[in-house]
Amino acid sequence: DVNATAMEEARKRIRVTKTTQRHIKDVDFNDLVFGKYYADHMLVADFDGKEWRNAEILPFQKLSVSPANAAWHYGQSIFEGIKAYKDQEGRPMIFRPHANFERFNLSAERMAMPPVPEWLFVGGLGMLVGLDRDWIPASEGSSLYLRPFMIAADEFIGVRPSETYKFVVINSPAGAYFNKPIRLLVQDKYFRAFPGGIGYAKAAGNYGGAMYPTMEARKQGYDQILWVDGVEHKYLQECGTMNVFVIIGNKAITPDLTQGTILAGVTRSSVMALLEDLGLTVEERPVSIDEVVAAWKAGTLREVFGTGTAASVAYVEQLTYGEHDIRLDTSRYETGAEVIRRLDAIRTGKEADTRGWNYHID
Ligand code: PMP
Repeated sequence: DVNATAMEEARKRIRVTKTTQRHIKDVDFNDLVFGKYYADHMLVADFDGKEWRNAEILPFQKLSVSPANAAWHYGQSIFEGIKAYKDQEGRPMIFRPHANFERFNLSAERMAMPPVPEWLFVGGLGMLVGLDRDWIPASEGSSLYLRPFMIAADEFIGVRPSETYKFVVINSPAGAYFNKPIRLLVQDKYFRAFPGGIGYAKAAGNYGGAMYPTMEARKQGYDQILWVDGVEHKYLQECGTMNVFVIIGNKAITPDLTQGTILAGVTRSSVMALLEDLGLTVEERPVSIDEVVAAWKAGTLREVFGTGTAASVAYVEQLTYGEHDIRLDTSRYETGAEVIRRLDAIRTGKEADTRGWNYHID
């Protein structure tokens, strides 16, 4: 049992200092503002140039970092986003942490950072969530958002990969996500990623770079940018920080990952499996904005939605591309609705987890 092994190893290697001042009482679980509160404990570990040391769970606290810290200057900084839920008996479980673990190490490799071992990432998350299980909100649709990240730790402002690193995990309770349909803008002024770039990595700079273009789109009344590729300016990539799906007739189409410009979403992979369960044909291939417009004109464009850990599935109600202004009636999104329903049911143990997605913590 891989799960048990990672946890066993973690218990041997990670020192635990419990807080004496729990602050869960100060949190209003009926009015959770995402990212405002953090659970009582955090996990930290140091890479000393050779191996991971000093793995420790301790009370949530500030980090002391030098102004010469290399991560601040050159952006060797990667992260993950994962959710923990409670099953029907109230026991904690984490949704597909191994998938995030693998993606984290892909990001690390691309950013010339060391990989983290499974006991530290998966086992560490398990121990931390086990300890702070009360922080997983009980209400329907809510969860505990887990944020593992790694930063360069050298105090050195020469441009080269850091030798030392810090791995940290903090957790934040997230209320039920209010699924407001989103409006997307397709534009060809800014691009998120290029072949050979870092689009497939969950690297901090990808997010910083997207903020200004997104701000401009917001000023024009849109919620997110539907990014197109940086070479031909016509192939769909992602919407905001979500993967994108287009349902045309009985086909569910999502951009393929072969160019390395798209983050391989864990929700994307889960949704692809659920769409197949529903009898749709899932196609991973280049999909152009012209194809979407043509399907809309032909009346075969049924649904467009984004997928990601934060929102699960976000319906698209408007998609603007030049003179084309596509409006979609999201109240008729049967496929998207069924996918959300099943995803929620599996993640909270209401429906059998036939694919082994839930990582149980005892
Ligand atoms: N694309 C980007 C750029 C993202 O940041 C995210 C969120 N991690 C996703 C897609 C969706 O990935 P996941 O389903 O793993 O959350």
